[in-house]
Amino acid sequence: PDKSKFDISSDALCELPPRVDRSMSSVTIPPPACMLRPLEVPLRYLFGPGPSNVPPRILAAASRPIIGHMHPEMYEIMNDIKRGIQYAFQTENNMTIAMSGSGHAAMECAVFNTVEPGESVLISINGIWGERVAEIAERMGANVHRLVKTPGGYFTNKEIEQAIEKHKPVLFFLAHGESSAGLCHPVDGIGDICRKHNCLFLVDTVASLGAAPIFMDKQNIDILYTGSQKALNAPPGTAPISFNERACRKMFNRKTKPLSYLFDMTHLSNYWGCDGKPAREYHHTGPVSGFFSLRESLAILAEKGLEESWKKHTEVVAYLYKGLEDLGLKLFIDLRLPSVTTITVPDGYNWRELLAYIMKHHQIEMTGGLGPSIGMVMRIGLMGYNCEKTNADKALNALADALKNCKKSKS
Ligand SMILES: *Cc1c(COP(=O)(O)O)cnc(C)c1O
Repeated sequence: PDKSKFDISSDALCELPPRVDRSMSSVTIPPPACMLRPLEVPLRYLFGPGPSNVPPRILAAASRPIIGHMHPEMYEIMNDIKRGIQYAFQTENNMTIAMSGSGHAAMECAVFNTVEPGESVLISINGIWGERVAEIAERMGANVHRLVKTPGGYFTNKEIEQAIEKHKPVLFFLAHGESSAGLCHPVDGIGDICRKHNCLFLVDTVASLGAAPIFMDKQNIDILYTGSQKALNAPPGTAPISFNERACRKMFNRKTKPLSYLFDMTHLSNYWGCDGKPAREYHHTGPVSGFFSLRESLAILAEKGLEESWKKHTEVVAYLYKGLEDLGLKLFIDLRLPSVTTITVPDGYNWRELLAYIMKHHQIEMTGGLGPSIGMVMRIGLMGYNCEKTNADKALNALADALKNCKKSKS
């Protein structure tokens, strides 16, 4: 080999860069052919449980030039996001931030910061989300107690209180919008029960925020989180979360450090300017474009108004229910989530075939069940920007077409 090529003191540095000559290349793995083709992304109607279609205004926000994650303008945008989340959650909590990560990042952040190894937690499970949180809590060494129902089942406040009395948890988890079952769980009164028993109340609103009413402060919810890509219609990858005073007291008076450095709230609260310290220090580089788009999605919600958004989801989903029943389809449960509707898989049909047909012929994504609801349901989500009667009609036409053209089996 020509040693002078690597000798930085040689005159070679002053020469023009050599022309690309692959025969001279030292790489043994060639550029992959796929990378030499342009990016292709189809247009799809995202009528499943998320992500949902992103309106042009939010896409445009994400395409703005990048600025530094610690520039003052970025801090101002983060402060806007904080205010936007406080409105969406109906809370005055100072400790309100967005995670750099999807809904799961918020789930892990909540559990990792408020629970220490060996402590008791109680998780209600009536679909997939409780089971996920239970696994997260088990991985960090919590003593996990499960309160289980079949998908779509719900818990009475009495059942919850009895389980809390029995297991004395430091944290109780509930999914407000159980998207795998299509259930919207009542929340009133549970926060008071948790308070009475010195337990933190953690609520998942990833699938429900903006579609069904939630009042973090009034309902005494101690920790609340959501995701960006459902009814908020931002791209996936950021997740709002808020902690009240009780939650802060628990998480900032720990004996052990949280398992995750990235999700440690002592650092994140500084990054988001929530810890009262004069300076913010580098912790990690937040998803700058993701925060631009999250800000815009929260701005759209603020302009529209929460009540208007809840009303719209209620109206459009009622229209969808009527259309589904006219097609002879059965709604899976009664306590329904306005953003994600579950229908019982119609007798004699293969649900995978129906969904594949709808994707192929109508470019519409609907999905099957998830976790314990697989094989039981098909799910239709009309969230935020997608929540329009014209879209309900598109979904209903596609379903009618699939029911007509997919084979019915005897079994
Ligand atoms: C989608 C969803 C999540 C997970 O969000 P990701 O962004 O996929 O991590 C959590 N909880 C509920 C209720 C959801 O619907």
